[in-house]
Amino acid sequence: MLGLMQEWPLLCHKIIDHAASQHAGREIVSRSVEGPIVRMTYADLRTRALKVAQRLEREGYKLGDRIATMAWNTGRHLEAWYGTMGIGAVYHTLNPRLFPEQIVWIMNHAEDKCLFVDLTFVPLVEKIASKVPSLKQVIVLTDKAHMPETSLANAVAYEEWLAEADGDFAWREFEERTAAGMCYTSGTTGEPKGVLYSHRSNVLHAMIACAPNAMGISARDVVMPVVPMFHANAWGLAQSAPMSGSKLVMPGPRMDGEAIYELLDTEKVSFTAAVPTVWLMLLQYLEETGKKLPYLKKVVIGGSACPRVMTEKFQQNYDVEVIHAWGMTEMSPLGSLGTMKPEYAGLEGSARLDIQEKQGFAPFGVEMKVTNDENEDLPWDGKTFGRLKVRGPAVASSYYGGAGAEQFDEQGWFDTGDVAHIDRYGYMQITDRAKDVIKSGGEWISTIDLENLALAHPDVAEAAVIGVRHSKWDERPLLVVVRKPGKNPSREELLAFMQGKVAKWWLPDDVAFVDEIPHTATGKIQKTTLREQFKDHRLPME
Ligand code: AMP
Repeated sequence: MLGLMQEWPLLCHKIIDHAASQHAGREIVSRSVEGPIVRMTYADLRTRALKVAQRLEREGYKLGDRIATMAWNTGRHLEAWYGTMGIGAVYHTLNPRLFPEQIVWIMNHAEDKCLFVDLTFVPLVEKIASKVPSLKQVIVLTDKAHMPETSLANAVAYEEWLAEADGDFAWREFEERTAAGMCYTSGTTGEPKGVLYSHRSNVLHAMIACAPNAMGISARDVVMPVVPMFHANAWGLAQSAPMSGSKLVMPGPRMDGEAIYELLDTEKVSFTAAVPTVWLMLLQYLEETGKKLPYLKKVVIGGSACPRVMTEKFQQNYDVEVIHAWGMTEMSPLGSLGTMKPEYAGLEGSARLDIQEKQGFAPFGVEMKVTNDENEDLPWDGKTFGRLKVRGPAVASSYYGGAGAEQFDEQGWFDTGDVAHIDRYGYMQITDRAKDVIKSGGEWISTIDLENLALAHPDVAEAAVIGVRHSKWDERPLLVVVRKPGKNPSREELLAFMQGKVAKWWLPDDVAFVDEIPHTATGKIQKTTLREQFKDHRLPME
């Protein structure tokens, strides 16, 4: 027997309809690429998104066409997304931090037809556009006055293009499994792989994200997604903030400590999210200036492991709650969040930080397990680690074009490529990427644990641990350190600091000091480059 409830397809434009009807006057504040702070409301956003949809359709774009965006987090970027989805076309976020050849490869693989681009990236697009034969049109997200001289054929200023529409348009009808968005994983090895979100998965993911066990945002929050929209949907905030009716603050092109602080303060931001490197800059700025964060209540930190000292500083010095989160582009991206279950809620001080070092538990909509190499489930004992696998309605079922099929099994489990353990209350902790873990004499050493420990030293600005070849043990850990300006800790001092805090055989065999640690386009430490750099490093005991 079937239920007798209404069919109400989960379509992304319903989010913006809801925001414009229930939270019409709530603001979206953006630091524009042109410079000034600009404001609009959810009602404006809906009207402008309808115009985008109307204009796109008039250009001939239709269901399933890929419409790329290469843009910072701004209101314009958001309305371009919603307008694209509203005709059943697919927004495809491009990460401008990738190498130009990679962007070309990705655009050709996706067969992008149109590109919305910020002024910042026009020179980059001028270099690559001719290498993407499918690309018919470039829409520069600015007005006529700021439109640059460009060698791009078929380039128009967005505001002029938009002004040709009156917004008298109805969202197109299609089923909820229709593709809505697309994002390629940066893939440190091999070609990038395309993840294709559907309307249904985006809406369900946004609902999952809003819930109190996850991000827990509401209409009373002021939400600033610092994490870019081109990094896995700004972790869903581009959908969950309008769904909740939260005021949105979009930081645009500036993500330095001062610029972020300015918006946190002037717009009274209560909730924000980004990768640890962004917060490193903000904390440095706060320490230098002595400024405080009176309005900020919660910060979600993920994308790579949130160092324990970072959590400690936010909570102790600024009274801001840290939620450590883990996810992947393939998961829309939220996989787990470190909100508190009653079993842990009473913990304080270092016992609480121990739990916050974990990446948290899976919300409803994400199933999670760890398995050994024989694909047998491992116990949830907080120490036995293995391959982390997930499934759920906002988890990819395959990659666009069928690459990486070996990561998906018949039961629908997706092998994340991460190594983790899960404790008895369901809190998961990533110990490594499978390809980064150090195999020393047949045993595994977690590079994330060692990095966390090194970062707790007051003179260390950034730390990375990689395995280097060893004649007896196969691999041994090498700690690579960027010192804080004006500080000069020695190798012996750092190793002595770590001693006693991890198993003796985990201690790095050596320390290398560098000026800079390389990062990927999404802000993760680029361990492949580091391993290459130190491939001939001779450990002192060899
Ligand atoms: P991306 O798809 O670019 O977001 O990258 C996903 C990968 O980032 C995951 O598979 C993890 O290896 C890593 N990652 C994300 N969040 C965390 C976290 N909180 N701690 C450790 N690694 C993380």
